[in-house]
Order: sequence, then structure tokens, then C-alpha cells
Amino acid sequence: MSFLEYAPAPESKSILHLKKSYGLFIDGEFRDGHGTPFTTISPADESPIAKISNANASDIDTAVAAARRAYDKVWSRMSGKDRGKYLFRIARLVQERTRELAVAESLDNGKPIKESRDVDVPLVAAWFFYYAGWADKLDHAGLGPAPKSLGVAAQVIPWNFPLLMLAWKIAPALAAGNTVVLKPAETTPLSALIFAEILQQADLPAGVVNIVTGAGDTGSALVNHPDVNKVAFTGSTAVGRAIAKSTAGTAKKLTLELGGKAANIVFDDAPMDQAIEGIVNGIFFNQGHVCCAGSRLLVQENIHDEVLDRLKQRLSTLRMGDPLDKNTDIGAINSKAQLERIRTLSDIGEEEGATRWTAECAIPDKGFWFAPTIFTNVETSHRIAREEIFGPVLSVLTFRTPAEAIAKANNTPYGLSAGIWSDKGSRILGVADKLKAGVVWANTFNRFDPASPFGGYKESGYGREGGRHGLGAYLQSGWHAESQRALPPAVGSPAKPVRAAKKGASK
Ligand code: NAD
Repeated sequence: MSFLEYAPAPESKSILHLKKSYGLFIDGEFRDGHGTPFTTISPADESPIAKISNANASDIDTAVAAARRAYDKVWSRMSGKDRGKYLFRIARLVQERTRELAVAESLDNGKPIKESRDVDVPLVAAWFFYYAGWADKLDHAGLGPAPKSLGVAAQVIPWNFPLLMLAWKIAPALAAGNTVVLKPAETTPLSALIFAEILQQADLPAGVVNIVTGAGDTGSALVNHPDVNKVAFTGSTAVGRAIAKSTAGTAKKLTLELGGKAANIVFDDAPMDQAIEGIVNGIFFNQGHVCCAGSRLLVQENIHDEVLDRLKQRLSTLRMGDPLDKNTDIGAINSKAQLERIRTLSDIGEEEGATRWTAECAIPDKGFWFAPTIFTNVETSHRIAREEIFGPVLSVLTFRTPAEAIAKANNTPYGLSAGIWSDKGSRILGVADKLKAGVVWANTFNRFDPASPFGGYKESGYGREGGRHGLGAYLQSGWHAESQRALPPAVGSPAKPVRAAKKGASK
């Protein structure tokens, strides 16, 4: 097969007004932290981007105190209509600064610019617009009359969708009348700090949103601060479990959005062209750094060879390289540590007997890269079939009957998402009903909308983000599972659901 040659089409970095160093954003202004600063680097070439402040426990005290003051004196007293105006303003400013935010995100995270520009940042604006609309309608959200906010929300987010996860956390919290202290991940703080500039531009009252940077100890000091009322965490199941433990027995409300190992199920009557694109999008979008990635492909046995041939052909056309190039399909792995994890689990896949296939592509000299990889002959007992790899690696399993597909799909400690590809509506509905996953996509994958709730079962966490349900997590009368105190079992042990689907579940 011959390929088209693409001339480089890099997005210019000149739109960025990068500072050499960034402080913590507390009480409406940037200030130095008291911890040892760190440098955020570009994962594509390991070059330094900026020096970032590190918040220690005393900085967290200051940030939480600022959020508490802003809550008591300003935000909790403001009408929903006025809160909504600020959120609309933030949404419009995000739209105005889309290109700048997209470049910053791709630079700091390594994701292709076409994803940050066309998916991440537009969804960020959509999330703020959506929750701006709810701010003066909380009485009509079905969450009781005159629902009350919780107070100060401590929010900790991961590195895979830095700005989008920020929007998922901050927009509903503010709409519901809470104030916020948010900590972005240590490898991707840049877009959150530019967002802080947007908050200044929007004249958001000081202290309503505070952004503190740092690593796990900063996050731990934040979620364990005695004066926070709500903890919202997105990240790994291991850290989620530690937070569930440390907040147990306190009055803090907790929502956890954790990992996943989604099954993408392809039946033999599936629309094949769409299914191939859906499989690629499901696992290779954002280098597979997606909690709901379709990392386990369950393909009906009689079409296994055809699907694999077509998949390999398609993967051979993907372009890996400079995240800022508009032609790039696969960007850089976010960090050296993540690259090590992907390599280790992939090597274990081979050692355990699965067959490895890797797309041929040139690996840049510098930076962190992993070519799209498929494992066949995978057994359900293999670690690559059970553990979240969080990289561009697909594990392929087969099934013969719908019952076998369902059993294999549910054979995981996680329960975040799943996909079904079939021409038959009745089969889709029948199978979807039996899948233990918070979100089930049919003949599509990785679709997000602010009106649609998102969240998991079992070790994927509890609580829902998005939609009316997402408001509930920030209101006293909203859904708060008593069972939230039950700890998810350790990976590998028999998984029991930590919560039943109640108000707040999407299926
Ligand atoms: P991580 O748990 O290591 O880190 C997430 C965040 O928690 C970071 O900001 C980190 O600094 C902070 N943190 C680390 N230790 C902490 C502690 N003890 N107390 C408080 N905060 C702490 O996860 P990661 O590697 O950054 O992200 C990848 C994971 O996130 C994957 O497992 C992925 O599935 C999950 N994720 C889930 C969703 C979802 O919506 N379910 C979305 C994105 C990512």
C-alpha cells in the first residue's frame, strides 16, 4: 500500500503568552507556594515549559480559608442567576481563547492538537455553558425544593484530560453554589493556570476558585483538610481507595471517578467500516490515556480474522509524532513513568503468551512514545486483559454467543463503560441491559455530552458527573450513597458493586 506524504502543518506556539514561572492561584491572585517548585515539561521532546509552584500544607490552609471566606461572604449569598452569569462569561472566554488553550494542552500533555482543539476545549466550553444554564434552576432539578450547596469543594484531577476534567469538576460545583480548591495533576498544570487567568478576566470574585499545584502530597493535604465539605476525585483506583479510607468517618461528601477496562463488543452483523473506526477511536484516541477506553476488544469468533486484518491496515495509516502538528493522530505518552507502565504491562502480555503486533511508525528521538499495539490470543486471565494499561494497547478476545460476550465483558473489577456494535437494535438493548458499566455506547464510542451523566460501578468509583445528576454531587439534597464508605476491593480480588444504581446512575 502506498501512503500519502504529509507536509508538516504545525500549529504555532506564538499564541501562548507563557510565563517562566507560575504561582498558586489563591484568593484571586497568583502567589508563590512554600514547597519546592517543579518544572513541567513537554512529553514530546522533554523540553522545559515553565516552573510551577508547589503547594505545601500551609498553602492548602490558605487556599481553603480563601474558599471558605468566598463561600460565606459572596458565593453562597449570590443568586443563582448571578452565578450563572459568571459561568456564561467563563464559557465565552474559553471559546475566545480556544486556540491558546488547545496549544497549551497539547504542549503540556502530548495529545494531538486536533483532539485538544476539536474535542477537549469545545467540550470545556460546553460544560460551562450547560451548568451556567442550571445555576438559576436548581429548584427544578428534581433534587428537592431550594436545594442547598455543600460549602468548600476539594477537587483533584488527573493528567489525561487536564482542562476537561477541570471543567467537569468546577462547572457543576459553582453552579450549585459551592466554592472550590482544585489541584491539577503534576505533569499537566499549564491549562489550569491559564484557566486561572480566565477567571481573573471574568472578574470572578476572589476565592471562589483556587488552583493549587503540586503532586500527591499536595492532593492528600487538600482532600484531608478538615474545613472541606466535599471531595471530588478523578484518578487511579489505588489513590481513590486511599481517599475513600481517609475521608471515611468524616462529614465530607465524596465522589470518585476511577479507572476502567472497557469491553468493546463487535458482533458479526456490525456495520464493519464504522466498527473499525470505533475500535480505533475507542483505544487510540488520546494515546489510550482514557479511563473509559475500549481497551478490551471482544470480537465474534467468525469475524475475528477480518476485523484484525482491517484494523491492522487502518492502524498502519495513523500518523504518530509532533502533538502540535495538525496531521498527527497519535501524540506522545504523557510521562516517562506512564511509558514505563505501558512497556512493562505489554512485555508481561508477551510473556504470558499473547501475540503482539505493533504498527510500523517512526519513533521520534526525544520524548515519550509508544506505537499503537494489538495483542491477540489474549486469555481472560492475562494481566493485559484485566489491568488498566492506560496506553495505546488493545487486547483482543473472542466470543461465540451474546451470553459469552456479556460474561466476558463483565469479568472485570471495573465498570465504567462499554461499547456494542451490531445492526440489531433488540440485541443492542438486550446486551446493554446486562452490562455492568456506567455508560454503554452503541455503534459509537467515546461520545461525551454535558447533559449526559458519566460514572462507574465497582472499582471505577461512585457518583456521577455531567447532567442533572452531576449537580446532585454538589447539593445537600443530592445523591450521596451511604454505601460510599464501602471501600472498593483490591484489584484482583472478587469485585462486589460498592453501590447499587440509584438516583445518579445512568443505567
Ligand atoms: P493518580 O491517581 O496517580 O493521580 C490523579 C491525581 O491525584 C493527581 O492530581 C495526583 O497528583 C493526585 N494524587 C496522587 N496521590 C494522591 C493522594 N494520596 N491524595 C490525593 N491526591 C493524590 O492517577 P493518574 O495517573 O494521574 O491518572 C490516571 C488514572 O485516572 C487512570 O486510572 C484513569 O482511569 C483515571 N481516570 C479516570 C477518569 C474517570 O472519569 N473515571 C477520568 C480520567 C482518568
